[in-house]
Amino acid sequence: MLRRALRLGLGRGPLSRGLGTHRGDSTLDQNGKLSEIKKKIQSVLPGGAWNPLYNTSHLPPEHSDVVIVGGGVIGLSVAYWLKRLEKRRGAIRVLVVERDHTYSRASTVLSVGGIRQQFSVPENIQLSLFSIEFLRNINEYLAVVDDPPLDIQFNPAGYLLLASEKGAAVMESNVKVQRQEGAKVCLMSPEQLRNKFPWINTEGVALASYGMEHEGWFDPWCLLQGLRRKVQSMGVLFCHGEVTRFVSSSSHAVTTSGEEVTLKRIHEVHVKRDHSLEYQPVECAIVINAAGAWSGQIAELAGVGKGPPGTLQGTRLPVELRKRYVYFWHCPQGPGLETPFVIDASGAYFRREGLGNNYLGGCSPTEEEEPDPGNLEVDHDFFQNKVWPPLAQRVPAFETLKVRNAWAGYYDYNTFDQNGVVGPHPLVVNMYFATGFSGHGLQQAPAVGRAVAEMVLDGHFQTINLSPFLFNRFYLGVKVQEHNII
Ligand SMILES: Cc1cc2nc3c(=O)[nH]c(=O)nc-3n(C[C@H](O)[C@H](O)[C@H](O)COP(=O)(O)OP(=O)(O)OC[C@H]3O[C@@H](n4cnc5c(N)ncnc54)[C@H](O)[C@@H]3O)c2cc1C
Repeated sequence: MLRRALRLGLGRGPLSRGLGTHRGDSTLDQNGKLSEIKKKIQSVLPGGAWNPLYNTSHLPPEHSDVVIVGGGVIGLSVAYWLKRLEKRRGAIRVLVVERDHTYSRASTVLSVGGIRQQFSVPENIQLSLFSIEFLRNINEYLAVVDDPPLDIQFNPAGYLLLASEKGAAVMESNVKVQRQEGAKVCLMSPEQLRNKFPWINTEGVALASYGMEHEGWFDPWCLLQGLRRKVQSMGVLFCHGEVTRFVSSSSHAVTTSGEEVTLKRIHEVHVKRDHSLEYQPVECAIVINAAGAWSGQIAELAGVGKGPPGTLQGTRLPVELRKRYVYFWHCPQGPGLETPFVIDASGAYFRREGLGNNYLGGCSPTEEEEPDPGNLEVDHDFFQNKVWPPLAQRVPAFETLKVRNAWAGYYDYNTFDQNGVVGPHPLVVNMYFATGFSGHGLQQAPAVGRAVAEMVLDGHFQTINLSPFLFNRFYLGVKVQEHNII
């Protein structure tokens, strides 16, 4: 079935779209030959407004085997793996549609760049273990001939998670799972903690876990640009525009439990360009929903969730925008270079930023405190009331910090269980999800891109079985029970 689906557009080279200009044009023009050619063409196309100098390379192609909605780190990683795993070079035409080329509101560039193996669900640990291998060997994956090597500025300082008496048993069992999966994590008593990190006040800390290898932070912008550069070199097409509509066909089927369902297949993606009321239809075989915090809206456009409540048809993709603040402060007396990425038992976190006694951090609000996601303005009172007090209690030197900057970004928040949604939709049969990572999508991007590409190309997960992350769980009510959501 997949092969049939992918047949559309196979073998078409990327150059078949549009008519680009090239350096020789000006010479032709000077010689007056161009106008002669134009005249000849116009004479054979009566009334035609065809203009060979009109550059259409900014428009999307009329056909693409795969259309990826969203050019953030997840969408680009899917594009990369599709090209890397395709069976024959140039076999699949992949188009990435991104509405904001400045990425001004994209989660990827507003994140804090952390990667850890300290999760409780084996699949999350495996995703991060592969991603760290990818990041630490980034030039083996993303090098481009004749371009300088990529430096994502990985800082292997580790994560330090602190648990109160109440959370100690869960921490211990999480670490057991992490070790079983191959992560190098140690448990520390308050005394060991004081010896290693003398700047920590261990009051209220019963246990700590510390990642000794492959944890830390890196520059998300560098990863995004590295992926972009690489996929362009692999022939992936880009279009600056907004996906506004899908055109699909429907057929009816009855499930084994007797439920009548409508199966949908998307045939066309409509892409609207800035400042234009027109849209460009792109015929396609597969759509990847990698629109991050906006992927719930993209799913709705495809008809996901539009059915009677309690049915598979009526089950929506539970991914929403959730605003998260990041504060950046200076503190000359702060912990210094030996600072890992610290997650306090209160939920507040911080890490070092650069080498000049600067730090950044924040804290997720409670459900009741969730700010209005309508804009990305920063609430400075949130720092005063919710972030600073627990951090100053944990690191007394932070009493004297000075906030220098702050920003807000959106989590692609999965309200069901705060974990990724990966793989196809059961009813919109050619829409695949790669979204809902709720604060850990950046670090999972390299592995998730590979998983989605495997699913698209082979029909099943090959390297990491991500079945627990399938959409079906929302209908079945089976949550991914991850204890370490930050
Ligand atoms: C403050 C903060 C801190 C974070 N810290 C970490 C961390 O330390 N570690 C970690 O792993 N993760 C972290 N995350 C989460 C991580 O940033 C995200 O999970 C990840 O970046 C999601 O990537 P994405 O490509 O799905 O989304 P985005 O980067 O948001 O990309 C989605 C893109 O889709 C585009 N788009 C949306 N709708 C359309 C449309 N209709 N047409 C065309 N384009 C469209 C958007 O313009 C956007 O560029 C953090 C997030 C925030 C906000």
